[in-house]
Amino acid sequence: MIINKPITEIIIDQNSGFCAGVINAIRTAEEWLKREGTLYCLGDIVHNSEEMQRLADMGLRVITHEEFRQLRHTRVLIRAHGEPPETYRIAQENDIEIIDATCKVVLHLQHTIRQYFEEDENRQILIFGKQGHAEVIGLLGQTDGKGTVITSLDDIGKIDTSRPTMLFSQTTQNIDEYRRLIHALEEEFAAAGHRQLFSHTDTICLSVVNRAKQIQEFASHYDAIIFVSGEKSSNGLYLYNICKNANPNTFFVTTLDQIDQLPAPNGKSIGICGATSTPMWLMQEAKDRLSKRLQITETIK
Ligand code: SF4
Repeated sequence: MIINKPITEIIIDQNSGFCAGVINAIRTAEEWLKREGTLYCLGDIVHNSEEMQRLADMGLRVITHEEFRQLRHTRVLIRAHGEPPETYRIAQENDIEIIDATCKVVLHLQHTIRQYFEEDENRQILIFGKQGHAEVIGLLGQTDGKGTVITSLDDIGKIDTSRPTMLFSQTTQNIDEYRRLIHALEEEFAAAGHRQLFSHTDTICLSVVNRAKQIQEFASHYDAIIFVSGEKSSNGLYLYNICKNANPNTFFVTTLDQIDQLPAPNGKSIGICGATSTPMWLMQEAKDRLSKRLQITETIK
């Protein structure tokens, strides 16, 4: 393996790593695990298998919604993504204590959607998000399942332009795509002669918007970028694409073993960054693994 130019630095992006909502959910889980030794969690607390393994080793037991329905007289953690009202109803019926780590930003969005939904029964609630995503399921639940999920511009045909309509976004969506959707919907309602019926609100999380700008700048500063993230993370995919556009020499890795399989880095500097669900310790281990690999390579060379 030949390195064209010796690597002189490997830098971790200090703005990468967990957002406030994920930090709070993990801290809450850790506190209960230290006290009780075991705790159920409804779905993965974070879309990162390495971090989930660390929490599993501490005693965290991830359950599905089916398993949740069978539980009685116990305690269950709700992660930052939040849950629909149905989950709280089941908990009450089954004497399950909810440890609620729903992110404050998501909670506020849930309450706002509920308010708009209850204010006017004829109002059409649109949610720009990923179908089946945990946060989106929680948001849809605020409309008793009557809201409509819009995943892309292709879904515009589903919309009734004769009803008052309010558009929201899942907190981790791409801001540029959201703006394009707003623009397309304004045109759609205007074409139907009902422009005044359409309203929208900006509900993308600021930490996601800011992270996108910071990571774009970070990626363009280095010769190569290693982006560390779980494959299931929608925020991970979004930020990875921003890095790749800013720096074509960007590589997506999920596990540390993949670092050894990457093409030999070409350049003087490598930046390591990740999603809002990537733990800082994993990026540090990625850096250690890469440093080790480069030392070995240089020895062979
Ligand atoms: S991305 Fe924003 S809304 Fe989502 S969990 Fe993190 S802080 Fe909360």
